[in-house]
Amino acid sequence: MFRKILIANRGEIALRVIWACRELGIKAVAVHSDVDRDSLHVRFADEEVCIGPARSSDSYLNVTAIIAAAEISGADAIHPGYGFLSENAYFAEICGECGITFIGPRPETIRRMGDKAEARRTMIEAGVPVLPGSEGTVENVEEAEALARRVGFPVIVKAAAGGGGRGMRVVSDPADLASAFETARTEAAAAFGVPDVYVEKYLVRPRHIEFQVLGDLHGNLVHLFERECSIQRRHQKVIEEAPSPALSPELRERMGAAALQAAQAVNYQNAGTIEFLLDEDGSFYFMEMNTRVQVEHPVTENITGIDLVKEQIRIAAGEPLPFRQEDLRIHGWSIEARITAENPFTFVPSPGLITSFHPPGGPGIRLDTAAYAGYKVLPYYDSMIAKLIARGNTRAEAAGRLRRALDFFVIEGIQTNLPLLREILDDPAFGRGELSTKFMDQLLDRRKANQGQLP
Ligand code: ADP
Repeated sequence: MFRKILIANRGEIALRVIWACRELGIKAVAVHSDVDRDSLHVRFADEEVCIGPARSSDSYLNVTAIIAAAEISGADAIHPGYGFLSENAYFAEICGECGITFIGPRPETIRRMGDKAEARRTMIEAGVPVLPGSEGTVENVEEAEALARRVGFPVIVKAAAGGGGRGMRVVSDPADLASAFETARTEAAAAFGVPDVYVEKYLVRPRHIEFQVLGDLHGNLVHLFERECSIQRRHQKVIEEAPSPALSPELRERMGAAALQAAQAVNYQNAGTIEFLLDEDGSFYFMEMNTRVQVEHPVTENITGIDLVKEQIRIAAGEPLPFRQEDLRIHGWSIEARITAENPFTFVPSPGLITSFHPPGGPGIRLDTAAYAGYKVLPYYDSMIAKLIARGNTRAEAAGRLRRALDFFVIEGIQTNLPLLREILDDPAFGRGELSTKFMDQLLDRRKANQGQLP
């Protein structure tokens, strides 16, 4: 087992990795930018190294500084968390070259799945259902037009290197395809450094259903069931739950098998997520694979009793998975709400000093956060400041606990989306589990119709 792990991240996920290290008896090294000195991940780590100024490109994305920090502190492994360098194949490769274990899949897997057009091709070859669309990248407008005619409008043009809901353009009217194609390429080049795009059929009211997988270094592979992440704003998840209210045991079985097939196709190692879109008619399609721990991993931990971060570390250290697929069961229900520092009406970020912070507790409540009273939310980084996760024996109990915990959560000094989250939980369609990726648009449209008044 490792003696010391460096955590190449900040915020709640850095703290989450420190919790796992502590439980495993491993020393944790925090890295931080100079404005993050007062962060909890720095406070609770065994050692800390400042890796540069505020801007992520100078600190949390600074490969040289992070590798140097690992060498100086004598860390034998690096946990990248999510975001930042977690899906950077070059970083994973450099770790290997420096004799530091990267806690994640092999660099070639990250590279292959990071190129979404290539991932699509791999899944087609492996026999995993994908949406009708291009084989790989689409080189010109003519090709895009021919494809769109074949699969039928609407289509979506997506950046091959895309992520975080960026670099996507939906086209419903054939007349808009040429300009959407060019804008998507320009946006992709600006955001990700590569202009490559691909085209696939756009589903109008799908659910986002993803499967958690775990593979060890000895060829054992399991899935830990699904998460439903259909409640999204601008393709970014807001509320996630496990299991999904939409899956019958039979559909779960089939989607789980497809997820394993997808992971098997790349001999997947460590924790990963296979994202699917589930259409209204019950067909499902591979969308992409995320080769890291997800923000929403706690809901899976809650229903399986498995600590995903500890498993990630054990797998990277070469330990075989301690369970087989047939040992895994779903226990109860779990729902997570992402709390962000932003105006709940305009969604404009609201950085600044948190003057009071009273987190809820009580039965079935878990809070993953690095925020506290006196903490200053910085404008340089992600606006998510906490994840509130409820668990119950049934969906209704989990939802009731989350709703109650949202009521008892006090965050003052900055604006947060707490009112919006309460609104979602109170929505009758949410209560019935009638979800789709259009859920938020519908809620926000209703809100507009009510002149922006909260119920
Ligand atoms: P990212 O890597 O940026 O998160 P994804 O490929 O995972 O991008 O897509 C993010 C979200 O965009 C999905 O959860 C879904 O809501 C929407 N989306 C992507 N592709 C399609 C599609 N073909 N049809 C309908 N919605 C889509």
